[in-house]
Amino acid sequence: MAGRNVLIVYAHQSPASFNAAVRDVAVEVLEQQGCRVVVSDLYAMNFRASATSQDIKGELKNPEHFHYGDETMFAWQEGRLSDDITQEHRKVEEAELIIFQFPMYWFSVPAILKGWLDRVLTQGFAFSLEKMYNNGIFKHKKAMLSFSTGAPESMFLPDGINGDINVTLWPLQNGVLHFCGFQVLAPQIFWAPTFSPPQVREAMLGAWRARLGGLWEETPLTFAPSEYFDLSFQGGFRLRSEVKEERSEHPYGITTGHHLGKPLPPNNQTKATPPNDKNQPKH
Ligand SMILES: Cc1cc2nc3c(=O)[nH]c(=O)nc-3n(C[C@H](O)[C@H](O)[C@H](O)COP(=O)(O)OP(=O)(O)OC[C@H]3O[C@@H](n4cnc5c(N)ncnc54)[C@H](O)[C@@H]3O)c2cc1C
Repeated sequence: MAGRNVLIVYAHQSPASFNAAVRDVAVEVLEQQGCRVVVSDLYAMNFRASATSQDIKGELKNPEHFHYGDETMFAWQEGRLSDDITQEHRKVEEAELIIFQFPMYWFSVPAILKGWLDRVLTQGFAFSLEKMYNNGIFKHKKAMLSFSTGAPESMFLPDGINGDINVTLWPLQNGVLHFCGFQVLAPQIFWAPTFSPPQVREAMLGAWRARLGGLWEETPLTFAPSEYFDLSFQGGFRLRSEVKEERSEHPYGITTGHHLGKPLPPNNQTKATPPNDKNQPKH
């Protein structure tokens, strides 16, 4: 573990919050392991959330019709991105593990963290059509979501009023992190700290401390391997027919998103699947 770089992208306004305590535990334990930990404290940095032409220095390629994705890709290639984005790029490049620490807002991340994802995961730097998912640019890095909720776990069960937490996490974990190639570690979820007694909150922090001790050895979550798909516009990037046929035998879909009209594989977005599990996609 010694010498490993960790980036914590942290989004909470209050140093007295539970999220701040969770962040502090991570910094303490990882530093004890010999890791170099950098924290991007987004509110303290007054990090801009909106993706605009302010992110680009110099002339725009097409000022008549501003296209954020293309313009920032060109700016990245030519070293013309705003300094705050360039600084975050450097931190991402150096990090072997990125932990996103935040309170859940509207089934997702707070706007300031969404802004970090929008602005820092620049086209070309973080992904391209040739380099995505299993072939993604960050395939040698790990990333994980660590977040608190207002709701208790029961509300996020498949029969709870909010619906299955695995479905809630799919866009962030598959659509953002796995899309950029990251090996996604199981999320760390702190259920309803605001409504929990002090001893329960202490126990949550203790469990986090214990997990951090073995974090580097953890098996990442399982996603559908890119080889399952016809990776061409002609083929529409859809599941290959032979894979579809092979999967017809399985009782569950491949992943939370690739459910193929079958029951979702249980806990696909919250627990790593053991390598010998029958629902594990073959690589
Ligand atoms: C805009 C918005 C949207 C939201 N959307 C959702 C949603 O979609 N789903 C959902 O479930 N929730 C939602 N929430 C609720 C939100 O996720 C929770 O309020 C948040 O996760 C609680 O975390 P916190 O760090 O702010 O807790 P805090 O309220 O800061 O902390 C909880 C308790 O922990 C205590 N504490 C602080 N430090 C320590 C320590 N070291 N040891 C022990 N205890 C400590 C605090 O004093 C406090 O009593 C939303 C909230 C907002 C504002």
